[in-house]
Amino acid sequence: MQDTMQKLVALCKRRGFVFPSSEIYGGFANSYTYGPYGSQLKKNIKDLWWKTFVQNRADMVGIDGPIILHPKLWEASGHVGGFNDAMVDCKQCKKRFRADHVIEEATGKDLEGEIEKMQETLVTEKIKCKACGSSNWSEVRLFNQMFKTEMNTTGDGGEDVAYLRPETAGAIFIEFKNVIDSSRVKVPFGIAQIGKAFRNEIVAGNFIFRLREFEQMEIEYFIDPELEWEETFDNWLDMQEEFAIALGAKKEDLRRYEHAPEKLSHYSKKTIDIEYKFPFGGFKELFGLAHRSDFDLGVHAKASGQKLEYFDAKNNRRFVPHVIEPTFGLDRSILVSLLAAYTEEEIEGGSRIVMKFPKNMAPVQIAVFPLLKNKPDLVGKAKEVFDMLKNTFTCEFDDNGNVGKRYRRQDEIGTPYCITIDFDTLEDETVTVRDRDTMEQVRVKVGELKSYLQKEF
Ligand code: ATP
Repeated sequence: MQDTMQKLVALCKRRGFVFPSSEIYGGFANSYTYGPYGSQLKKNIKDLWWKTFVQNRADMVGIDGPIILHPKLWEASGHVGGFNDAMVDCKQCKKRFRADHVIEEATGKDLEGEIEKMQETLVTEKIKCKACGSSNWSEVRLFNQMFKTEMNTTGDGGEDVAYLRPETAGAIFIEFKNVIDSSRVKVPFGIAQIGKAFRNEIVAGNFIFRLREFEQMEIEYFIDPELEWEETFDNWLDMQEEFAIALGAKKEDLRRYEHAPEKLSHYSKKTIDIEYKFPFGGFKELFGLAHRSDFDLGVHAKASGQKLEYFDAKNNRRFVPHVIEPTFGLDRSILVSLLAAYTEEEIEGGSRIVMKFPKNMAPVQIAVFPLLKNKPDLVGKAKEVFDMLKNTFTCEFDDNGNVGKRYRRQDEIGTPYCITIDFDTLEDETVTVRDRDTMEQVRVKVGELKSYLQKEF
């Protein structure tokens, strides 16, 4: 199955979805650039998310906060003191690992957060190093995942520590008061945000699955603490799953993993991960959903001395809302959409690789080809068709190589429709429309092309 990943990584580089970053300087581990098609795919996923969860809902608003926020926020939230992972080194080969991951892979036991048990288990179960096979471990130590930076805030040359945000949610809680004061929201309502987050992961890897710099799409959905929350929670789970399916994921590749009650943070009533069956090591977290009670508003109210409450005018009640937090990883969403789309097919006279993205998710929706690039009439007509469609669809103009090669390339990019302008077009105003999945070709009149394609999407 790792084979699938290797093929996908190669395709991503070859066709401009994802490049290993800083290559001209010899590369920079676990850092990637979304290329021309990857960045468009990423934008399509963000747009779909924003449309689904903000634009189409009367009970949701968006914000866009800074990456570097007041350090007191991260002290209050517990990140400075407690956003730690357990790391362990193999004394033999000097490789570093996340202790809970090493143990889980070897025994299936989830010991996240239990340092002493991890230390004990490494020894009693004689767990072997994945890299060199020896069983000679260092102490299990805690490692804070927050990236620190310095800010020149005092103006006297002194530098203060600041942090790159390890999640986007923090900025939502500290703007709670501004949002209720400036918009018309009434509980229950949600605040959504898309943006970068940074975590100094002990071991990053598996392509864009675990990065140190990544993007999240997060929602804090505020509810009345007196009312029952289970139904709202279940609805969010369903919506998260539907979003994964809209990315192209198959239902059987998704599952829900509920965190055991004794593993939950003291404030959480329930936490469920939506997991996807990745080709490396099976089901792993794609999205998360947590009931966080009034923990976050509570700690920020206490640390800031500000009231973070909601006034329910209808019932003349004042309360601190509870919160349900659906969180979506954007890079993992991109990975799922790439994995789900990747298809190898036997076709007449050989085989092909085709990225079967859902049509609206595809980075290029329509490719327009003049049959030959050295015939000005054909090129001129193809440009006309391109101009006619470019405002409605994401289009690409391609006159490189022969048409067969262009189809092969567009299949690997996942373009649902290719349109070829040939000599007949000049006579009868029809073009060939080729379908990515069936490879069937039909002739469509130029005048009817736009409405024909609108129906297909
Ligand atoms: P994991 O257990 O895989 O480390 P997590 O439980 O720490 O994930 P959360 O804190 O719940 O993750 O973050 C919310 C979402 O952000 C995750 O569901 C995932 O999609 C994404 N995410 C978290 N860490 C990373 C990372 N290092 N690289 C890419 N995406 C990430």
